[in-house]
Amino acid sequence: MKPSNLHHETIKIVALAGGVGGAKLADGLAQVLPPENLTVIVNTGDDFTHWGLNISPDVDTVCYTLAGLANPVSGWGRRDESWQVFQQMERLGAETWFRLGDQDLATHLERTRRLRSGESLSSITRDFCQRWGIRQRILPMSDDRVRTMVNTVEMGELSFQEYFVHQRCQPTVKGFRFDGIESAQPAPGTLEALQNADAIVFCPSNPWVSVDPILKTLKNQTVFESKCLIAVSPIIGGETVKGPAAKMFRELGFESSALAVARHYGKSLLTGFVLDNADAALADAVADVGISPLVTPTLMTQPADRARLAQDVLNFAKSFLL
Ligand code: GDP
Ligand code: CA
Repeated sequence: MKPSNLHHETIKIVALAGGVGGAKLADGLAQVLPPENLTVIVNTGDDFTHWGLNISPDVDTVCYTLAGLANPVSGWGRRDESWQVFQQMERLGAETWFRLGDQDLATHLERTRRLRSGESLSSITRDFCQRWGIRQRILPMSDDRVRTMVNTVEMGELSFQEYFVHQRCQPTVKGFRFDGIESAQPAPGTLEALQNADAIVFCPSNPWVSVDPILKTLKNQTVFESKCLIAVSPIIGGETVKGPAAKMFRELGFESSALAVARHYGKSLLTGFVLDNADAALADAVADVGISPLVTPTLMTQPADRARLAQDVLNFAKSFLL
């Protein structure tokens, strides 16, 4: 992208994000927006306790990515990571199905200590972001405990990390339950950010277990009324780039396609929907649902792909704001 495009945007964006797919577009938006114009609201339904530590995988993935600390290969965890503690834990017989690197562990140790002293997740996240040099606002969806539970055919109900990491998404999905969601309050700042946003972007995150928990936590759907909402498809050519979203659509009885994602959110929510060039043939069907389609390359392999897609999304959003 041309440097002249950088930071000339005045549009205010709130992005809803899970982990890997969410962080990539959030990073693109961070490249093309002035920092004060971007707020990212992140899923915390994946949060869990492991080795006695409070872990917030999606919040950490978004923070590490925006701070330039993320592992570019795996998409999660830290770059230049070492595994000394993990190896010693293994030797001591600790559970090793969830890998935690040394640098990553520092995040969980300090977060856990501060949570136990009574500080909120959003306050801790704000402070960590400042220390990591992140200038955009990253908000967990809630400071209250929400736990995504995956109901499976073979193993009954599993906690999300048990399903996702331990069982490697193998069990057949029957449905989801977001434990605690009824009483969970949106984190401080989330509703205000949505009210002040010119456009809300659903990152190409898993609709079922990344974006839905955020939408259900925000509850108050009036914050979305008369807003420009743009979703980017996490499904390209019927498959996910990474993760179980396509498998979930199929196991829940839907076709797995970008169109199914557009239908999942629906026209009552979405203004526009971004699908990949590979899915150009579905654009008319998206329009038939009552949602404006934009066809553009959506695979973010390089940092420049993230910025380019982000700029396309902003231009698309602006076309509805005139
Ligand atoms: P998780 O919390 O780490 O599982 O990550 P997310 O829910 O944020 O993102 C998972 C989704 O991101 C998957 O459905 C992927 O297909 C999608 N995804 C990952 N990379 C890309 C990409 O480069 N482009 C698009 N369009 N989707 C992507
Ligand atoms: Ca996640």
